[in-house]
Amino acid sequence: MNKKFHFLDDGGEMGRLMREKDWSLTPLGPPDGWPQSLRTTINILLNSPFPMLLFWGKTLKSFYNDAYRPILGNDGKHPRILGLNGKEAWNEVWEEVEPMLKVVTDKGESIWRENLLIPIFRNGRIEDVYWTFSYSPVKDEEGDVSGVLVIVTDTTEAVLAERRLKESERRFRELANLSPVWIWVTDKEINIQYANRALLDYVGIEEEEDFTGQVWVDVVHPDDLDLVYAGFGHAVENKTEFALEYRVKRHSTSKYEWFKVLGVPKYEKEEMVGFVGTAMSIDKQKSFADELKMEVENRTKELADSNIKLEAMNKELQSFAYISSHDLQEPLRKIQMFTEILLDKEFDKLSDSGKTKFKKIQSAAFRMQSLINDLLSYSRADTEQRVFEKIELENLVEDVKSDLGEELQKKNGKITLLNSSELEVVPFQFRQLVYNLLSNSLKYAKNDTEPDITIDTETITNAQIIDDNLLEGKEYVKITITDNGIGFEEHFSKKIFEVFQRLHTKQEYVGTGIGLAIVKKIVQNHFGYIGATSELNKGSVFTVVVPKQQ
Ligand code: ADP
Repeated sequence: MNKKFHFLDDGGEMGRLMREKDWSLTPLGPPDGWPQSLRTTINILLNSPFPMLLFWGKTLKSFYNDAYRPILGNDGKHPRILGLNGKEAWNEVWEEVEPMLKVVTDKGESIWRENLLIPIFRNGRIEDVYWTFSYSPVKDEEGDVSGVLVIVTDTTEAVLAERRLKESERRFRELANLSPVWIWVTDKEINIQYANRALLDYVGIEEEEDFTGQVWVDVVHPDDLDLVYAGFGHAVENKTEFALEYRVKRHSTSKYEWFKVLGVPKYEKEEMVGFVGTAMSIDKQKSFADELKMEVENRTKELADSNIKLEAMNKELQSFAYISSHDLQEPLRKIQMFTEILLDKEFDKLSDSGKTKFKKIQSAAFRMQSLINDLLSYSRADTEQRVFEKIELENLVEDVKSDLGEELQKKNGKITLLNSSELEVVPFQFRQLVYNLLSNSLKYAKNDTEPDITIDTETITNAQIIDDNLLEGKEYVKITITDNGIGFEEHFSKKIFEVFQRLHTKQEYVGTGIGLAIVKKIVQNHFGYIGATSELNKGSVFTVVVPKQQ
């Protein structure tokens, strides 16, 4: 036991092995004969946490510490090479190691090597190991080099990791360059660090190093630059992903095309270092959408223009209708006045055919009067001030029934209201509406059938099904007027609401063809709907839908 030598104190496993070894059996002899420089170096080595190996003497005997142990691996040299001659201990690498050792021993110079591949025998086989190490001279009391201290790190893991990284980066680039979608990587300031082939080709750049932040100014559409800066700025500030659509100039055509650019923040050790992203052409979709938008805008404008024209024409027509009917009243009144005087004073003096002609004049004047009256109320339906009031339909129907009393009695007709309802309407307009519809039902009754007219109401909230212009969810009152009259062919159901549209001659039924046009206008004034269904000889159903509340 060499316990008495303090330079062999501690030193872990290697310290113990050195103390236990019987050095007297080796050419070095017992430790008490070892030179001071050897003792000191071994003491430093044993107590260093850094992997160290000492070659000593002419035969370059090996000493190493616990930190060096793992470098030797299992089932290899340890502990066999402790104190062994260098050539014997490092046989497999001696050809490489010896010349370096010679530089140190012969010239007294130090050596430094980084990531040098020196395969060694460990773990039961020859392994490729990368080393970063220094060889430095250990001098004895006389100043001669009598040993070489090797301080070493096994950098195999680091070298392989870097290689793997390079390899995966190479593979990524290869793949990225095949992609038709742009792929890019930037730093924190959105300066391009990597751009794939598709992107470089498009903007006309052959190296990504040339792709500075400045390039964006040249290739992004001037109108989109603000949006790009704002979008990127926001993403940088908030460290968020972003999605932007903007135009980029294609180098080969100098034309701008639309791209959708997506980016996500890139982190290294929890710190944001930039963005990774893609960009895809959306030019086809965009130009189609643009075309569509323009088309819609044009159409909307055309429609608005013709609406304005239509409105102006309508106004003109209305004032014409109003003025002409108003002005016609005066001469008509005169005709009526003088025919009355003639009838009173001179009628008897006329011949029989004169009397007939005179009667025809009178009835024509009467017809003209009703035409003028209808025209006036038609044009008034628009211009009159509308004051909505809550009314009970029942009261209104009763009023109209008493107006129609004579006619009802003559035809022995019946008007039944099944179900009344409260309504918010312009009372005298709505009264006219009910009057026109009921009087038609009476007028267009069958000759051989007593008129039977039924009015029913229902509050509904799905009025949109009946007509697109009615509002979904709003409360409407649906009024149906059903008669058992002569009816009409279904295809006339829209036409009958137009001015002067009559399905019968004035000889068959008196009328002006304005009644239903007035009804339609009143319904429009109430933001409602009117429609009719019928079949010849099977009666008609008129449906009026108006909001319960305006
Ligand atoms: P008119 O003054 O001719 O009654 P309207 O505008 O009131 O004018 O009606 C237009 C046409 O619709 C009528 O000429 C008639 O042919 C038809 N019509 C209206 N109401 C009915 C009904 N209840 N039954 C059958 N036909 C009708």
